[in-house]
Amino acid sequence: MAIERTLSIIKPDATRRNLTGKINAKFEDAGLRIVAQKRIHLSPAQAGKFYEVHKDRPFYGELVEFMASEPVVVQVLEGENAIAKNREVMGATNPANADAGTIRKEFALSVGENSVHGSDAPETAKEEIAFFFSGLELVG
Ligand code: ADP
Repeated sequence: MAIERTLSIIKPDATRRNLTGKINAKFEDAGLRIVAQKRIHLSPAQAGKFYEVHKDRPFYGELVEFMASEPVVVQVLEGENAIAKNREVMGATNPANADAGTIRKEFALSVGENSVHGSDAPETAKEEIAFFFSGLELVG
């Protein structure tokens, strides 16, 4: 199985509630290695650019405002099948539909304030990692 990298974001609802360590433990327990990590506060323009793919969705404005409301932790996770594995550990977008033991089931507040982001495919993972990290910051 291929070793992959994926972009993860611990969202403001989770950083605010001091859940970074508990969420990172879920990743590490699943065999995902945190190979880069930083805490940043996105501007509305940066959050809007990151979520540009959703710009026509009704929740776009709310999503951008939320993501720029407080600091986030952006990170690169590495491991076998990391993109799918991360999405499995995250759980369904809406915590009401998420499986027991997933991050969103345990920690998410709502479909919007759902604690984590994870890339959904190899091409988006590559683009999203490059959005936040330079090559020098990735130390496998
Ligand atoms: P995922 O993050 O699981 O890949 P999507 O790509 O569909 O999900 O949506 C991106 C983010 O937009 C979600 O994680 C969530 O924060 C927000 N979102 C999605 N659907 C809604 C909704 N119906 N209302 C409010 N926010 C939403």
